Amino acid sequence: MTENYFDGVLKNIEKIKAVMNLNDQEVELLKTPQRIHQANIQAGGKSYPAYRVQYNDARGPTKGGIRFFNDVDEDETKALAFWMSLKCAVVGIPYGGAKGGVRVNPKELSEAELEELSRNYVKAFSEHLGPWKDIPAPDVYTNAQTMAWMLDEFEKIKKQKAPGMITGKPLELGGSLVRDIATAQGGVFVLQELIKKLDIQDPKIVIQGFGNAGLNAAQILGDLGYKIIAVSDSQGAVYQENGFDISALIKHKQENKTVVGLGKQITNEDLFALECDVLIPAALGSVITPKIAETIKAKIILELANGPIVPEADDLLHQKAIIVIPDILANAGGVTVSYFEWIQNITGHYWEKPEIMSKLKKAMTKAFDELYHKYQELGKDMRTAAYVLAIERILKAERLRGRV
Ligand code: GLU
Repeated sequence: MTENYFDGVLKNIEKIKAVMNLNDQEVELLKTPQRIHQANIQAGGKSYPAYRVQYNDARGPTKGGIRFFNDVDEDETKALAFWMSLKCAVVGIPYGGAKGGVRVNPKELSEAELEELSRNYVKAFSEHLGPWKDIPAPDVYTNAQTMAWMLDEFEKIKKQKAPGMITGKPLELGGSLVRDIATAQGGVFVLQELIKKLDIQDPKIVIQGFGNAGLNAAQILGDLGYKIIAVSDSQGAVYQENGFDISALIKHKQENKTVVGLGKQITNEDLFALECDVLIPAALGSVITPKIAETIKAKIILELANGPIVPEADDLLHQKAIIVIPDILANAGGVTVSYFEWIQNITGHYWEKPEIMSKLKKAMTKAFDELYHKYQELGKDMRTAAYVLAIERILKAERLRGRV
């Protein structure tokens, strides 16, 4: 992500200050994370900087993923934790926001070292975590296995079972059905609502990134009969004018570890500039710069990744009348099913897939309707509307607690 990632957050808060007429105390509260935890943790004899930022807990225990990635630092973790606070508020789930990470290249670690790193992360921060304090989940380069190691370590330290301390777990350890595809599925539910509103027929879709979110989005959209004309991963981008056969594409990715090799190979710049209806950035942050935004021809951008558009590009896209469904709604399906997982853990009552799918659809559609209403009321871009909606809810909780 970009160097001064949190600066983007501060700029956005200033923008919202004017829209919402916030006072200085409210602005200060929004700009300040409540708690920043930092530790150096060991794996394979080496030490790595680790973070957990609990940004705002007015609406409930803090919630958010942990990533293992090269560019993790305090600044980025703060920004991501702020967005989690907004995300939970936008979908109306009773959590505050947090985020964690370790600055490490996970591809250089063996399985045993990844386990050591995961366990040491929990050892470092265990007193700050728990089902009624702060609940981690997977994020970039962490998965159900990572969550399993973290849960096991936490339970060892606390000497009791505590499945609700972490979500995105394997089913065998109290995970939830649908959690694995929840981010993509939630995004598709809101996309379908907007496609209906704009009355777009036979939408042509481009997906940037083919990890958990991108691959599952392709699968779900393919099953709905939508045409996916281009996809990419870290190895490159491919294009198929009449739309890919999604099962063949996924099979190719699984066998070759890349989408490259099917269709016509194009550059990443070409991918963003394609004639299409929907563009789905589903990989890392800050990929859509003003230069890239200039070339985009899509009508809708669905931000399945966190922070894929840099703030300067945002304004440009709005001027071009491209509607951006912001990350804090577009990818909120993940944390919404995390919330369902946590409910199942604390009640001990487990749900079937159709029940979870219908609850997810209801939550995402309701959040979309509320956001769309705010978007029309304000006459600004959808991200601004989402920030306003979320900040209103957070500040209402803060006021009730007497903190502002
Ligand atoms: N890491 C995911 C996100 O950014 C999921 C968070 C969660 O489930 O708590 O939304």
